[in-house]
Amino acid sequence: MKTESPSGHNRYSVTGRLLLGGRLAAGALVVEGDRIVEARQGAVGELPTPRFDADIVSPGLVDLQCNGAFGLEVGADAAALRALASRLPATGVTTFLPTVVSTTATHYRAVAAALAGAVAPAVSTDLGAGARLPGLHLEGPLLSPARVGAHDPRAIAAADAALDEMLDELLAADALRLVTLAPERPGALDRIRRLVAAGVAVALGHTDATFEEAEAGIDAGATLVTHLFNAMSGLHHRAPGAVGAALTDDRVAVSLIADGVHVHAAALKLALRAKGTDRIVLVTDAVAAAGAPAGSYQLGGLPIVSDGECARAPDGTLAGSTLTLDRAVRAMVRLSGARIEDALAMASTVPAARVGLTDRGTLAIGQRADLVLWSANLEVDTTIVGGEIAFRV
Ligand SMILES: [Zn+2]
Repeated sequence: MKTESPSGHNRYSVTGRLLLGGRLAAGALVVEGDRIVEARQGAVGELPTPRFDADIVSPGLVDLQCNGAFGLEVGADAAALRALASRLPATGVTTFLPTVVSTTATHYRAVAAALAGAVAPAVSTDLGAGARLPGLHLEGPLLSPARVGAHDPRAIAAADAALDEMLDELLAADALRLVTLAPERPGALDRIRRLVAAGVAVALGHTDATFEEAEAGIDAGATLVTHLFNAMSGLHHRAPGAVGAALTDDRVAVSLIADGVHVHAAALKLALRAKGTDRIVLVTDAVAAAGAPAGSYQLGGLPIVSDGECARAPDGTLAGSTLTLDRAVRAMVRLSGARIEDALAMASTVPAARVGLTDRGTLAIGQRADLVLWSANLEVDTTIVGGEIAFRV
């Protein structure tokens, strides 16, 4: 894994248009060790060297939903997780939640063990400047059998009381950061309350909920809605469903797969108007086929095929995406008309805050020095993780 301190310096500066307070304004950051120690706006004055000049500087991107990429799948293999972490900075990602679709309790446990192995102190030097993995996103298995998407329906049907034992173990191991569930499943509301009390964010998703059932899930503590519009009850004017609750209830933010395939541009615009920048999270929902050639891959043990543009199960169902988060930022700008600064926040500030990562997601003094230096046409030029250069064109 390539790890590099900028010219071996412990203190350096970065200039460009900085994402500060929701706006892009010319300025400079001073980084010392793994932290931002100064954020200057306007005339930057004298700066420590080396100095890195970029067009745009944003916080590192935070992907709340990543099943894999570069031919690697999130699974029971710690080495694959580390390899994924080392590749993602090329897409601007500095933090991600390895995401596991509906599976058996045994496999969830195995992935949690792999995560522990991937971030263990004994190998942390090996992780170098790879993207950070602050916990898993369990997407399932307590989902609607009517909205399985590309998940294994057997794993969804089998979610029962044994689920609690597994959740308890993963909570005790501090392995969870986000859980997606369907609020209308029996026992879902109690589980939302338990997870939230334990400091884990809960998202509603893969749900056939009525408007009222979705509201009950939000009342219980859910603060996110997973891939809005995809795999959920749609908006009917007399039965507004999960989409109606997600769009109108300010207590939840919504994640979007902005690849131009999963969600029509008009639906992205609708989400932006209804939720505003502060309540939209761009995710990739990437599978192993992302950043990899067209061909056959797997998702949660099921076969999927990528044509290079998108990934599908054999029956044609969309199976995750081949999106990368830097592309999602550009697509959100292009398709929804979002401002660049807003799309950048949707991929950094908003997701970090929604899962309680208070030490990253903004360019404030004291924050982790997780940064993306962008070119004028919004391509990733350099990615810095914890003060170290993790990727450079
Ligand atoms: Zn999904």
